[in-house]
Amino acid sequence: MRILLTNDDGIASPALAQLKRTLSAFGRVITIAPDRNQSATSQSLTLHRPLRIQEVGEDTYSVDGTPTDCVLIAFHGQLGEKPDLVVSGINHGPNMGEDVFYSGTVAAAIEGVLQGVPGLAASLVTRASTDFQEPADIVGRLLRQVLERGLTRRLLLNVNIPFLPAEAIRGVRITRLGTRVYEDTLVRKVDPRGRDYFWIGGEDPVWRPDEGTDFHSVDAGYVSVTPLQLELTDQGARADMQEWGLSHR
Ligand code: MN
Repeated sequence: MRILLTNDDGIASPALAQLKRTLSAFGRVITIAPDRNQSATSQSLTLHRPLRIQEVGEDTYSVDGTPTDCVLIAFHGQLGEKPDLVVSGINHGPNMGEDVFYSGTVAAAIEGVLQGVPGLAASLVTRASTDFQEPADIVGRLLRQVLERGLTRRLLLNVNIPFLPAEAIRGVRITRLGTRVYEDTLVRKVDPRGRDYFWIGGEDPVWRPDEGTDFHSVDAGYVSVTPLQLELTDQGARADMQEWGLSHR
């Protein structure tokens, strides 16, 4: 099996090297990752300048682009055979609930699915500096069990791992996306030249404590595995709106 490994934290993330070691047990791992932190770049593509790729180690490349650029290069950049699986992570920080829409980590796994192979995104739920070997081992064990069931082309898994010692993790839960409680996350201040500036950021997200969600499970000490799908159509609204008789006149 040929695995594309990427992330959005950048090629220098220690999590990337540790996950590569774990994934090597499954086949040949090609790492193609952004040359710098590209967190929260979502599914963005670099269209207005060329992309440069640099070989930085064995089967390891950095790209001056986004996670999605990296996946496209893996599939269409003539670097050899195409991957059979895209693994993205391990992200340094959670990717739960609506945050999957902003996440570069999840976007890379989605791009794998758009290219016709399964995708797995993995995140460690902490901003503290830490070692990623235990989370990488967990991803490896999950992947082994999923492979035993057989991969399907549309399989897209979003994995969030609680920041706990291995022995304190209570198990795995299959979850749904949770819901964020929006707080003030935009700072408005004045720069030294007297002009206003805005800075997106603020506190860590707060989640509604709904049972069955990714947040609820991680909070209770379980690894959260959320199967995602890319069909965004609201079928209920579609059925209702068929009756509206909308007109362009
Ligand atoms: Mn990130």
